Amino acid sequence: MKHKITLIPGDGIGPEVAEATLKVVEAAGIEVEWERLNAGADAFERYGKYLPDEVLESIRRNHVAIKGPVSTPIGEGFPSINVTLRKTLNLYANFRPIKNLPGVKSRFENVDIIVVRENTEDLYSGLEHVVVPGVVESLKIITAEASTRIARFAFDYARRKSRKKISAIHKANIMKLSDGLFLACVREVARLYPEIQYEELIVDNTCMQMVLDPRQFDVMLLENLYGDIVSDLGAGLIGGLGLVPGANLGEGCAVFEPVHGSAPKIAGKNSANPTAMILSAILMFQYLGEIEKANRIAFAVESVYIKGSVLTADVGGRASTTEFAEAVMAHLVN
Ligand code: NAD
Repeated sequence: MKHKITLIPGDGIGPEVAEATLKVVEAAGIEVEWERLNAGADAFERYGKYLPDEVLESIRRNHVAIKGPVSTPIGEGFPSINVTLRKTLNLYANFRPIKNLPGVKSRFENVDIIVVRENTEDLYSGLEHVVVPGVVESLKIITAEASTRIARFAFDYARRKSRKKISAIHKANIMKLSDGLFLACVREVARLYPEIQYEELIVDNTCMQMVLDPRQFDVMLLENLYGDIVSDLGAGLIGGLGLVPGANLGEGCAVFEPVHGSAPKIAGKNSANPTAMILSAILMFQYLGEIEKANRIAFAVESVYIKGSVLTADVGGRASTTEFAEAVMAHLVN
């Protein structure tokens, strides 16, 4: 069966890691008709819109998309395309598996954490205003509906995959109402899953605990901002952002994308690690039921890491983005 998938290459290193991923997918024999569209500054130049309607229509029509990173101006300019896309399509669950890759030197072995991050509200609501010059208010929105929905997602996932423990991360000692509501909703859901161990940790302690020993975590359940920060922290613990994939899941559609951003300093140099994007494609094809071929790609990626001779600079090698992709393809063909 030929899949029809929306492809948003993004900018910065996005087009390079996307191209590498397409080649690997093709070598695995997965038939795809890619509907290629872009968002962000590139799209603005061409269509006069940062998030053209065509992109949203394509994802709604195909139900599945894969996207590279899209840059967001710092402290000025247009709102994040990533946040807008997640909110507009109601992709409420951000799913980020943080797992060691064989042979990659990192601070810890046997890390296997699933970060489940609420993707639609919190401080990412983008509701900010100047109260008087020199004073800005930024609104943190937490609702019972979204908190319960993300908790159900995390507990359902844990039950389905026989994961043992869920850690809800919060700062309800300070934000008693907002994080307090989040926790109250999660506790309600936790009661329905007695076989899953449930704990609560304050976010600052969580960061310290992760750096001391991340193996104590199994599934982590977080609001939007804490989830974003903890994902990058987790990526650092297993070897870097070049290795961690992600999925934005909703009821009607799913958008798969690496955790990393557009890495402007290394963009255009053919040196970025495409692993996170390839692993995002694996998550996507597992979601689409292409289990056997997705697992073959995963095996090929692992084989390249075990061999260790064709690796990108971020993980201690000298290979280019294309050379890494070709090494994965060679394992798929042989
Ligand atoms: P970043 O993830 O782009 O880079 C952080 C560090 O990780 C840099 O040192 C970079 O070189 C390295 N890195 C990231 N991905 C890599 C890869 N595949 N291979 C090798 N090294 C890699 O984060 P940033 O610098 O904070 O953000 C840059 C831009 O990306 C910003 O405009 C930001 O808004 C955007 N961003 C987009 C997304 C997204 O599209 N989902 C996510 C995060 C950041």
